[in-house]
Amino acid sequence: MPESSFNCQRCGHCCQGEGGIVMTAPDRERLARHLGLDVPAMLESCAESVGGKLRLRAGADGYCVFFRQGQGCGVHPGRPDICRAWPYFRGNLVDAASWEMIQTDCPGVNRAAGHALFVSQGLDYLCEHGLAHKAGPETPRALVVDDLLARRKTP
Ligand code: SF4
Ligand code: SF4
Repeated sequence: MPESSFNCQRCGHCCQGEGGIVMTAPDRERLARHLGLDVPAMLESCAESVGGKLRLRAGADGYCVFFRQGQGCGVHPGRPDICRAWPYFRGNLVDAASWEMIQTDCPGVNRAAGHALFVSQGLDYLCEHGLAHKAGPETPRALVVDDLLARRKTP
């Protein structure tokens, strides 16, 4: 079995905080479907619009409204792409210093595996799960990796 650059420890740190979970149109449709709601009703129940972006709200405890202590994500099959892609965000792929820094908050990142393996496994993971996006008006920059993939193919 090859070494893994990331093994989620289910600590929930990445579900804490406000503002990070921006939803694109496909994210909104998937989450609404998962909740058995139409998109406007889903947005009413759990989202907010800030600076023209629609994002999940945080609860009084500072965690995402869907985070359940001891259980994790309460909408796992319907969660947005940004949640699916973490920690393989663009910044952590292009910058080894960012990869170093996230290890403070994300104990799932395997420091011993090194940044190069993180990049190669991360790009594979994003491709396999349909999470490698091109830039778009709603697409979080963290998910834009098409140029990195193109570069990887170039000998
Ligand atoms: S912070 Fe990292 S290890 Fe903890 S739940 Fe999130 S992805 Fe998993
Ligand atoms: S949707 Fe789920 S994975 Fe995403 S921040 Fe909320 S609880 Fe965490």
